[in-house]
Amino acid sequence: MLTLDGSHGEGGGQILRTGLALSMVTGRPLHIDRIRAGRPKPGLMRQHLACVQAAVQVCGGQAEGAELGSQALQFTPGPVQAGDYAFAIAGAGSCLLVLQTVLPALMLAGAPSRVQLSGGTHNPMAPPFDFLQRAFAPLVRRLGVGLELTLRRRGFYPAGGGEVHAVIAPAAGPLAPFDLLDRGTRRSAWAEALVPGLARGIAVRELAALRQQLDWSEGDDPWRIPPARQNEGPGNALLAVLEHAEVTEVFCALGERGMPAEQVARQLAGEVRSFERSRGAVGPHLADQWMLPLALAVWRSGQRASYTAEAITPHASTNAQVIAQCLPVRIAMAPCAGATRIDIEKAASPA
Ligand code: AMP
Repeated sequence: MLTLDGSHGEGGGQILRTGLALSMVTGRPLHIDRIRAGRPKPGLMRQHLACVQAAVQVCGGQAEGAELGSQALQFTPGPVQAGDYAFAIAGAGSCLLVLQTVLPALMLAGAPSRVQLSGGTHNPMAPPFDFLQRAFAPLVRRLGVGLELTLRRRGFYPAGGGEVHAVIAPAAGPLAPFDLLDRGTRRSAWAEALVPGLARGIAVRELAALRQQLDWSEGDDPWRIPPARQNEGPGNALLAVLEHAEVTEVFCALGERGMPAEQVARQLAGEVRSFERSRGAVGPHLADQWMLPLALAVWRSGQRASYTAEAITPHASTNAQVIAQCLPVRIAMAPCAGATRIDIEKAASPA
């Protein structure tokens, strides 16, 4: 039995998602209480319930306490089934957090899966689609897993309605963990202002403000306003994509009603500059999200692997503890030359 305290460390939904993922992967039942105790509205919200229901479907599992507001959950996994799945979140809950929950199980399944997701694609406190597609998925592919993500429609708070398709193909051979200690030389940097259903002038102002704050000289057209798809929005996201030889990072700031375009740009510029100053290979969000797939590869292969990160956030340290509690791996974190180094190695048993 995996027993997790949902109030531990960061105290958010990630403890639940990592717990569900590792319960499915290890076949061990999960008990979690004080779910999201660190959040203003604790317990399962619609988005977290969708993660539990997706986990139940993917492995034919059983869940007790899977109700809105529930602060305790008992999840009993069954054997993971590759296949075609569709997971929908009514409203704008992040459908990408649902993908994050089922990906570890499906990438270790016996055959490929296709997953259709609908809900929010650009949400506060969740990875935006562009981050998963350009930053996260390429690293997962380097482990040997096939992971193709396609955006059909963007979904923003409060309307939602976004659509994402994921094709997940388990590795043909053993997973191949690798070190990511250096991001490598920068090949390009560009920014994109998404303003579906809103005035184009917002995007123009955001990009102008960003241009003043970021010293980007490379590339032909670093300031982009992509066309909106039908029925998208209204919503606003400002994205920065930094393509390095070894890794691509994506940063995102979301606009909201009443927030000036210049403020959205300032927030994004702050995150980009902080990454540019650091020597870590990955930024703070990739640091917490890369840990789980890499730990699975270490566990399965027995090989150790390391990476460096700009910062270790409470999300990252909490995730490290949850992973080490559920899988026989040791995760060490230590400062190193303008960054933090994360080392993962196989252990005899979970912590
Ligand atoms: P939680 O708050 O526990 O539900 O977890 C939120 C997850 O979303 C964490 O894995 C964060 O790293 C991730 N996240 C939040 N904002 C971003 C962002 N702008 N880009 C990428 N990932 C994000």
